[in-house]
Amino acid sequence: MRRPTEIERLYLDFDGFFASVEQQVHPHLRGKPVGVVPFKDAVHTCVIACSREAKLHGVKNVMNIEEARERCPDIILVRQSPDLYRRAHNTLLSEISAVIPIDAVKSIDELTCRVSPAERGDPRALGLRLKKRIADNIGPFIFCSIGYAANRQLAKMACKAGKPNGNMVWHPNDMPGLLLNLTLRDIPGIGERMEQRLLRFGIATMADLLATQPKHMRKLWGNVTGERLWYALHGYDVQAPPSGRGMYGHGRVLPPDHRTPEHAKAASRLLLVKAARRMRRDGWNAGRVWLWLELMGDASVYRDAWLPAVHDDQAVLSALERMWDGVRLALPRRPKIMRIGVTLLDLTRASERQLDILLNDDKQRRRWEDTTAAIDTLNRKHGRTLVSIGPWTPPPGGYAGGKISYTRIPRAEDFW
Ligand SMILES: [Mg+2]
Repeated sequence: MRRPTEIERLYLDFDGFFASVEQQVHPHLRGKPVGVVPFKDAVHTCVIACSREAKLHGVKNVMNIEEARERCPDIILVRQSPDLYRRAHNTLLSEISAVIPIDAVKSIDELTCRVSPAERGDPRALGLRLKKRIADNIGPFIFCSIGYAANRQLAKMACKAGKPNGNMVWHPNDMPGLLLNLTLRDIPGIGERMEQRLLRFGIATMADLLATQPKHMRKLWGNVTGERLWYALHGYDVQAPPSGRGMYGHGRVLPPDHRTPEHAKAASRLLLVKAARRMRRDGWNAGRVWLWLELMGDASVYRDAWLPAVHDDQAVLSALERMWDGVRLALPRRPKIMRIGVTLLDLTRASERQLDILLNDDKQRRRWEDTTAAIDTLNRKHGRTLVSIGPWTPPPGGYAGGKISYTRIPRAEDFW
């Protein structure tokens, strides 16, 4: 694998995107602490994005509004405008691509580019040109942070390290020294659970992680992601894996009398089991699962959960339980859930699963996998869901009519 000696990648992330778009469009919000909320006048909801002024008071994204008000009594709560953010996203992309070709759009407010050989000597100047163009042509209240490094992973970390309004260069000559000040949680992809796993194996610091062997990282992650991360952190030009199958997902519009959390949860179980069934048939394991709900009035709730590279019903359904615990906290009182979707992703070949020495779950996992295989055989034989783990309660008339296929990454709006 190639190890670049120059800056080759750029990662750009808008700061407090929704809030800064609101400030750009509505002058009375400029310079004020602003929190964007999914619902108007809701009591039990959270701030989904906040302005830098609100952040200075300790308000964070995805913070309960009561807590946000406690930390910042003057906070102005603004109801989200998904269509405005979508338009801002498109306009910003066209301005950026007038300066540099965009390699990949990662989300509504993140993207990555290749830095051309001519720009590699002075990437900061490139960043200043991008920022000036955005300020001149769109407005001076939209800020972004940009990171530059040998590969995309490091550029993303540099971008985060430079926030807000950053323009951070991590030159290969200065690596991996610059990483040593960071914690494991500063690495995109390492959440609380993964951090706990690593701790159990005596990996507590960035230095510990960097000293780990790539094959061991593969074992720790349960799939090739860990090994790829090792190469990325060590400055190699890690290419995205050949995209075969991306994900397995199902989404449904709920019938009018089935728009409560209870019915939506029952529906999500069915959809997830169906997606897992298709995934197993094709020989994949999932490393992650998404759940999203669209509510009446253009709001959404989104959760995701890490999975230890699995394909059996018990594993995906227990992750779904955990996500629902979180979803309930984010829902307003008496929500009307219009549409629901689940997606299994971060797929790896089922035949390549490593023994999960950390979770020590292999024996139990295999038992659940055998159980699931037996259930599949029975259901296939009868051509319907005869056996399932837990309740199986389709709404009257099934889901016909409201069927929506999600064979693509859901729109960024789906996550709000
Ligand atoms: Mg952002």
